[in-house]
Amino acid sequence: MITAPLTDRFGRAIEYLRLSVTDRCDLRCAYCIPNGFKDFEEPEHWLTFDEIERLLGVFAALGMKRLRLTGGEPLLRRNVSELVQRIAALPGIEDVSLSTNATQLARMAVELKAAGVTRLNVSLDSLDADTVARINGRPVLNEILAGLEAASAAGFAPIKLNMVVMRDNADEVDAMVDFCLERGYVLRLIELMPMGDTARKMGYVDLQPIKHQLQARFSLVDAMLPGGGPARYLGTTDGRFTVGFITPLSQHFCATCNRVRLTVDGQMNLCLGQEERMDFRTLLRGGASDDELAAAVRRAIDLKPERHDFHEQPNKLIRFMNTTGG
Ligand code: SAM
Repeated sequence: MITAPLTDRFGRAIEYLRLSVTDRCDLRCAYCIPNGFKDFEEPEHWLTFDEIERLLGVFAALGMKRLRLTGGEPLLRRNVSELVQRIAALPGIEDVSLSTNATQLARMAVELKAAGVTRLNVSLDSLDADTVARINGRPVLNEILAGLEAASAAGFAPIKLNMVVMRDNADEVDAMVDFCLERGYVLRLIELMPMGDTARKMGYVDLQPIKHQLQARFSLVDAMLPGGGPARYLGTTDGRFTVGFITPLSQHFCATCNRVRLTVDGQMNLCLGQEERMDFRTLLRGGASDDELAAAVRRAIDLKPERHDFHEQPNKLIRFMNTTGG
């Protein structure tokens, strides 16, 4: 097995993998999966747990340290806690986190913690039941709130709360800030990315003015939080409130991008906003050795583009977030 660290053509060390364990979801967030979307992967194309464990073992031997389970909605993949347990035990893997819409979290928080999930990100775009039903496609606010409570009770801390800010909920940022302050959640505000028509219709909102308002309201200073992601954090000096900004459009972070994405059917997407990818399912099912898989990982990393073109070519990407491994 080759052991030099994974570095791309632009000198970026690649050590973070977002693993989509399903492209299905119980919600229809208007910016993510269009209503009526039917083009889900065939179950026989889903990587099995054995295939995932083997491939991640190869990645880990090449220096991949952090994993995040995502989707679709990862808690819909049957026995996902067993998968967590298996990949958390791989030598070299230091951190297994998970992003969820939290609809299933009330019943699963304890088992996820026991299985080895270190950190949880929960998506919540509004605290208003009607807005949630409208943006997220189902009236699930109460389930999400129950999931958040169960996650805190299970010992997840800090919980990061992801709010995608768009035309429809931009006036709710202050309410979300107060909610997070009260409960000790870290708020992360995310700019809408133009992935597929469905996201482009939702009305992009530049987060810079919102950042300046919050900075002034709370006298925020730069803050650091664990996690391998692109958020830039600000916090109060007493540590009571931290807010992260994920601003792929108004201030992109491609120069420090350390990640790749693996879809449920074993395709590695090298950039959220570009089409370069590598097919690992065919390699795994075609009998590739570990050395051949490792060589393919290196070839894939060599394909990683320098940056996305969301600004310059907002209509370029027809792929939806759920099929990307968001
Ligand atoms: N179902 C899980 C969840 O809700 O967190 C994981 C998958 S979801 C695709 C991951 C994150 O991507 C969510 O926070 C979601 O809001 C965000 N997302 C989806 N489409 C997006 C878009 N077009 N722009 C920005 N964020 C998006």
